[in-house]
Amino acid sequence: MTEPSVFTRIIRGEIPADVVAETDRVLAVTDINPQAAVHVVVFPKTGEYRDVSELAAAEPDLLAELVSVAKAVAAEKAGGEYRLIFNTGAGAGQTVFHVHAHVLAGNLEEKSLVG
Ligand code: 5GP
Repeated sequence: MTEPSVFTRIIRGEIPADVVAETDRVLAVTDINPQAAVHVVVFPKTGEYRDVSELAAAEPDLLAELVSVAKAVAAEKAGGEYRLIFNTGAGAGQTVFHVHAHVLAGNLEEKSLVG
């Protein structure tokens, strides 16, 4: 069996996190290593999908819910203007293989689009 992801451990309450939004199926927490003034990671409570392509193929409604939570977080924290990034694959910077979106906003002017 593979190890539970860090996000699964947050869902289980094994690792503390600053929860900013939650639905029955999705959790949003402040990123531990923020890359912008607002940096929140949004992920499904199920850990069965490694990346956004897998999630989109299997449960498009859950992906839509994740995007909806991201929008709500950005509306509350950043006036509704934000970047939504899904790193996909280690070569693209993905380090946690439990699908998640990065919501980034504020002081993005100097940031590259690719991290
Ligand atoms: P990735 O590199 O996979 O696209 O993004 C993983 C993100 O998870 C990184 O931005 C990293 O800072 C964040 N992260 C890793 N461990 C933890 C943790 O224990 N708590 C929180 N809140 N974020 C984490």
